[in-house]
Amino acid sequence: MTVLDLTQSFDASFADKVAKESGQDLSLCYQCGNCTAGCPYTFAYDLPVSKVMRALQWGQKDIVLTCKSIWLCATCKTCTTRCPNGIDVARIMDVLRQMSRRQGYAPEKKIKQFQDSFLDSVKKHGRVFELGTMLRFIARSRRLTDLDLGPKTAMKGKLHFRARDICGREEVEKIFARYQEGLDE
Ligand code: SF4
Ligand code: SF4
Repeated sequence: MTVLDLTQSFDASFADKVAKESGQDLSLCYQCGNCTAGCPYTFAYDLPVSKVMRALQWGQKDIVLTCKSIWLCATCKTCTTRCPNGIDVARIMDVLRQMSRRQGYAPEKKIKQFQDSFLDSVKKHGRVFELGTMLRFIARSRRLTDLDLGPKTAMKGKLHFRARDICGREEVEKIFARYQEGLDE
């Protein structure tokens, strides 16, 4: 069993940054475990969501940003609705995922590759072009996935073969540019 020396890895500024970016008071968590009890992905997490909260309070940046749980979270918000102290736990998981991206951690690479493919498509067309997204994902991940669903969804008219840009596509592109500027500052 690995024994962690939490005093060595303590980073107080990390907890402060997460609190500021998420708008949540991390100190309110008293480890009742309600969030974990309701989370549908606890079975797949390497760190249950209540332990993510505890590690956050302890300023354990490396543990939190490298855990798989923040990438497997489905943003269903069950944790948020169950928290007796009104902490928006799902928002915190979202912020952690963004921090993990920005700082070059992505323990679940395929999820990041899918997100990147999705966002590339939204940036280019103003909305997602499903076929293009899947082709980008396959090219990035080198993983052929759900190919059998293609003909089925095409037959139902749900899979378009040509991208259609939305009106105001340029505005969406500007949102991406503003986000990128924020990262560069
Ligand atoms: S939002 Fe994420 S952490 Fe919260 S209950 Fe849903 S899957 Fe679990
Ligand atoms: S439900 Fe709220 S108070 Fe309870 S462990 Fe989860 S975050 Fe902490």
